Amino acid sequence: MINFEALFKVSYGLYIVCSGDKNRGNGFISNTVFQVTSSPARFASCCNKDNYTAEFIKESGAFSVSVLHQDTPADIFGRFGYKSGRDFDKLEGMHVQYGETGVPIVLDEAIAFLECKVVQTHDVGTHWLFIGELVQSEVVDDTMEPITYLHYREVKKGLAPKNAPTYVDKSLLEKKETSSKFRKFKCTACGYVYDEQEGDPSNGIDPGTLFSDLPDDWVCPVCGTEKEDFIEL
Ligand code: FE
Repeated sequence: MINFEALFKVSYGLYIVCSGDKNRGNGFISNTVFQVTSSPARFASCCNKDNYTAEFIKESGAFSVSVLHQDTPADIFGRFGYKSGRDFDKLEGMHVQYGETGVPIVLDEAIAFLECKVVQTHDVGTHWLFIGELVQSEVVDDTMEPITYLHYREVKKGLAPKNAPTYVDKSLLEKKETSSKFRKFKCTACGYVYDEQEGDPSNGIDPGTLFSDLPDDWVCPVCGTEKEDFIEL
């Protein structure tokens, strides 16, 4: 038997993985970046074959990894995690540095970054697994903690988008909820659900606050989408 709840016990970080060059680049939010060998230092990054960034990594043969901190604002996850770089330039207006291989490195909200040159590419089905050798790494801010996927899920109520390697179809999870007089509203960009019964305590919204009573400047705590782009479930 497979209990999908068990998969959430595996811990991950959250990163912006970026590739391209000075003319055009793209990045996405990844939770599957991990060191695979120490000598030489090599890192793996898993990327959906449909991800625009995958094209840049294949073309340039390099990628950067920006390690995000725990208080990374929702709009960063919205910009890099729930929107496609085919529709707009995700790097425009961002604080970007170019690495030794020429790839863009996003410095906004980063506490450290890595730059890797691809040495192996594995076809793992829905995703490419890129193995990269470290060519450069730097600590940007030593005062903040890196964000974990658990923190993102439990505190920020974030969900893995459909093309993430760790995506779990919610219908496969056991239903623990009972019927309630409160209503639920879903963010059409990222899938976050505002539950009136729970409120949004991380943003000072008390449990029991009706969606219609949320302040006008309230935005999706996961991706920064505005209230009017929510739909009732
Ligand atoms: Fe959202």
